[in-house]
Amino acid sequence: MGFSSFISYEEIDNWVEQYVNSNKKIAYVEIIGQSNEGRDIKAIHVTNNALPIDDKEVALIIIGRHGDELGTRVVGPALLEWLASKEAKRTLDRQHIIVVPVANPDACVHGVFGLPVHHLSDLEKRSILQLGEKYIPDVVMDVHSVGKEKYGFNWGGLEAVVIDHNANAGEDRYILQKMAGEMVNAGAKAGYPFLLHTLEPYQNLRKKTEVLSELVFNNHVNGALYASFHSLTFGMEVNHFVLSSNCTAKSGLAVIKSMLEMGNHVFPWEYYPGYPNRILSGDFLASVRSKGKNANERRNSRKEIWSKRNFFEVPFNPYREMLDDRSVKITVKYSGKEEIADGITINFRIRGTPEIKRINMNDENIYYHTKRDKCSTYVFLDLETIKENDVREIVAEF
Ligand SMILES: [Zn+2]
Repeated sequence: MGFSSFISYEEIDNWVEQYVNSNKKIAYVEIIGQSNEGRDIKAIHVTNNALPIDDKEVALIIIGRHGDELGTRVVGPALLEWLASKEAKRTLDRQHIIVVPVANPDACVHGVFGLPVHHLSDLEKRSILQLGEKYIPDVVMDVHSVGKEKYGFNWGGLEAVVIDHNANAGEDRYILQKMAGEMVNAGAKAGYPFLLHTLEPYQNLRKKTEVLSELVFNNHVNGALYASFHSLTFGMEVNHFVLSSNCTAKSGLAVIKSMLEMGNHVFPWEYYPGYPNRILSGDFLASVRSKGKNANERRNSRKEIWSKRNFFEVPFNPYREMLDDRSVKITVKYSGKEEIADGITINFRIRGTPEIKRINMNDENIYYHTKRDKCSTYVFLDLETIKENDVREIVAEF
């Protein structure tokens, strides 16, 4: 579709209604809440309904939390239109995509920012967070837009992919940087010079200057989705000052397409395809991961383990120790009172691709599966229920 302007709330809403009506095979609307003035907040679910939903990754794209960020208005329709195209078939086969085209309808109608900057609004708690609770997104993109702000603090020409400051667990910083880098490259390839932003400079600005404290970038929704579900959360700033509405739509779409494409692949350190959000404690050498036969089981497992992650004592849990150059010992200690009913997956990585002679856990043989790359072997062990003060010692000989 072409956009001659940054369309109004009514235009977006009509467009979305029409879209769902003419794409019933792949799309449906869910009302996820009401605005303070009584407008429906809509989520559009898009997927290939002929394939089992439990096998799919869940991607959540939140658009338009800030009503005066005009560029966000064209990104939702552009994304939905692409999702209905042939090019998106593979993504629809493998993923359940949830698009919230106007997260804050009242702010969009009135053309105002519309949210408190230092905390989650009640509106977000009762709509977006409830949605998160229901579907446990694997990945999240929160779409914003900048213009030439009167405060002169984003320089009028910015386009950015944003990663969060609170993602310190496992290898999340590396993973988020790597994925964001891919998105920045995709933006560049499409002709849009996106930057990679973290929230840290804004936090620092906020500390330094009182006057900026009302203007700091806020991403409380992403923070909450990461903290609750270990969703990989990204933000994006498209630009509605230097770009036409059409170009703004194209730039946003380029970045989101690149994010969605990553959910179709197997990441190097993962066994299963999909978003790399399963390392919940530890690192690329030894980790506690979500467990499950399909994407939905792994999501529920991820949520359960993540909620108890502090009972795996950091930073060295699992603890990986080379006994000699042909054997390695992995110790996992769980100190929680509540058991992890559905179990965990333990992963560790061995240098090279030697033949594995034996793997024991607490002196007994255990089943495992492996994945090899050019330089190493990843070993995966699925463990059943983890109990209070559980200690597992795994020794691998190779
Ligand atoms: Zn914003």
